[in-house]
Amino acid sequence: MLRIGLTGGIGSGKSTVAGLLAARGARVVDADRIAREVVAPGTPGLAAVVEAFGPSVLTADGALDRPALAAVVFADPAARARLDGIVHPLVRARAAEQVAAAPPDAVVVQDVPLLVETGQAASYDLVLVVEADLDTRVRRLEQRGLTEADARARIAAQATDEQRRAVADVVLDNSGTPEQLAEQVDRFWAERVAPAAG
Ligand code: ADP
Repeated sequence: MLRIGLTGGIGSGKSTVAGLLAARGARVVDADRIAREVVAPGTPGLAAVVEAFGPSVLTADGALDRPALAAVVFADPAARARLDGIVHPLVRARAAEQVAAAPPDAVVVQDVPLLVETGQAASYDLVLVVEADLDTRVRRLEQRGLTEADARARIAAQATDEQRRAVADVVLDNSGTPEQLAEQVDRFWAERVAPAAG
């Protein structure tokens, strides 16, 4: 098994790269998706969140009210740490289950937005970082429905390009076209994945 940790700032193109790697045959373990699954209605994760923050973080039909929860933890680092203390271990456990279920010859790509922030680089055979310049990321996030101010605030709250580069084995530049990104993914696969995966 070859384990690749894929990271990059919000709007850099991680999901796009994950899709390109999946098309090449990689198994993608998506931390964002798992983070939603572990607090889905009826889960112990959601019960723990409600126990910590009260029923005001639920919608009328009993699902997690993400904007309400975001409002609670946004300005309160202690509340944020409490939430992370509930969700992160659940995400790690579920991700580990998915990795363990992959066949021995699999190429497993873990899309981990906060890989650098949470100090997980050493868990992977290769750390793949996607970058795009700041204004490009803001523009793409605006196209995805965020306001410019929100996009810039989210980017500023994350690790810097320099911090991500410091742990990267390979950096992909996604400031250009989707075709240019796909070429870089093809090169990464040919030069780093195929030889290592045998
Ligand atoms: P992340 O997962 O890092 O937040 P995404 O892969 O979702 O980033 O990309 C952010 C947005 O930019 C998406 O809407 C995606 O379709 C778009 N996008 C990604 N790469 C490119 C590119 N090279 N050119 C134009 N749009 C892109």
